[in-house]
Amino acid sequence: MKCPYCEVEMEKGIIHGDRYAIKWIEETRDKGAIVNFFQKGVKLTNPWTSNSIEAYYCKACKKIIIDVNNIEL
Ligand SMILES: [Zn+2]
Repeated sequence: MKCPYCEVEMEKGIIHGDRYAIKWIEETRDKGAIVNFFQKGVKLTNPWTSNSIEAYYCKACKKIIIDVNNIEL
């Protein structure tokens, strides 16, 4: 995957979750890590399977890009 900022090839890697799904939650609804489990959001990982997700990293721009394939709002 090419970085959308600098167009250099990004490095493929993986982000591992802990016990719970990693979620993206809108800033306006974020209540902090403790109630994160109960908040609806875009789930990036599934703790019942591997609980990890592929991510592409650009060292130059310090950006990480994640393909979201399990949108659950
Ligand atoms: Zn870049």
